[in-house]
Amino acid sequence: MKRYKICVIKGDGIGPEIVDEAIKVLEATSLKFGLEMEYDYKLMGGAAYDVFAEPLPNETLDSALSSDAVLFGAIGGAKWDNLPRDKRPESGLLKLRKGLEAFANLRPAVIYDELVEASTIKPEVLRDVDILVVRELTGGIYFGQPREKTEDSAFNTMTYTRAEIERIAKIGFEAALKRKKRVCMVDKANVLETSQLWREVVSEVAKRYPDVSLEFMYVDNAAMQLVRNPRQFDVILTENLFGDILSDEASMVVGSIGLLPSASMGGKVGIYEPIHGSAPDIAGQGIANPIATILSAAMMLRYALNEEKAATCIENAVKTALSQGYRTKDIAAYGAKEICTTSEIGDVIVKIIEQ
Ligand code: NAD
Repeated sequence: MKRYKICVIKGDGIGPEIVDEAIKVLEATSLKFGLEMEYDYKLMGGAAYDVFAEPLPNETLDSALSSDAVLFGAIGGAKWDNLPRDKRPESGLLKLRKGLEAFANLRPAVIYDELVEASTIKPEVLRDVDILVVRELTGGIYFGQPREKTEDSAFNTMTYTRAEIERIAKIGFEAALKRKKRVCMVDKANVLETSQLWREVVSEVAKRYPDVSLEFMYVDNAAMQLVRNPRQFDVILTENLFGDILSDEASMVVGSIGLLPSASMGGKVGIYEPIHGSAPDIAGQGIANPIATILSAAMMLRYALNEEKAATCIENAVKTALSQGYRTKDIAAYGAKEICTTSEIGDVIVKIIEQ
């Protein structure tokens, strides 16, 4: 039996409710595939501040560093909004990402036929869309030095080193190997020197992956193509700023926020979390959609634990539950046959896995 240690951070707001469902689903999947999971529950965000006066206590970072992966819900809420910046919940998450050296952000955008109406794009454009945006997360213009703002002018610096590009490119190509084996690198090489270096380095890395095809696309064109013909993409590999924008665009192309998982990885341990926040407006009501977190657990199985069959099993169970008309309140308008609470939809997915 294979054993894994998972650091579980439920967080604030709906975090505990949605993570509980992901754990339920992981347990059923582990039983089916002969995996043994040890869960180490730790605090982060507002919940951690209330106990430790720190949004990322040392014991949470230590647990994360000694685990195979981190499964995380969401953090934040009005109660902690007026704290000094370094005590606020989100600074806990930023510190965790830094501590784990998570330089790659992976965001799948998959369309479910039953929910095609949830998007503002025409159904015939959307069918079979399955994109993975691989975004560089710790370099580029958001972090480049020098940077300055005076009253009359301001500037930022976009820098990338060969090593930074090479390591994210490898993640992109490895991910493509597990998918349709196509990488589209998005840049602005007609204007930016950083993009030209990206093209050189990514082309070199591509030689090590002869089964994966590589194409280049300018970011302005990519933004258009994502809404014109999103089916053409498999893996989109790009730098921090372009990835920030394109990953949000890709998410909205496929629709509902409660369905979208993500991974922040690259160092020894990765963080697997839904893209949404802690949704304080619906916390504690039993109506949060846990599917994004359940799909994040599937990503964790695939990318952190290399348990591809278990990951696919969860993804297929989610598809089946949706195709049978089970919906949480947020997606009830799109073909609901039965409206479920947070735990009921978790139970439905577990039952499908057990069959
Ligand atoms: P949000 O993503 O929490 O919520 C936006 C809207 O989507 C809300 O109406 C919410 O009810 C709904 N929603 C989100 N997730 C849902 C789900 N699983 N099921 C059903 N409906 C869902 O964004 P926000 O309201 O801007 O932020 C709320 C708090 O979350 C803030 O404190 C913010 O800082 C924090 N936040 C945390 C993260 C994170 O933990 N990674 C990310 C974004 C925002």
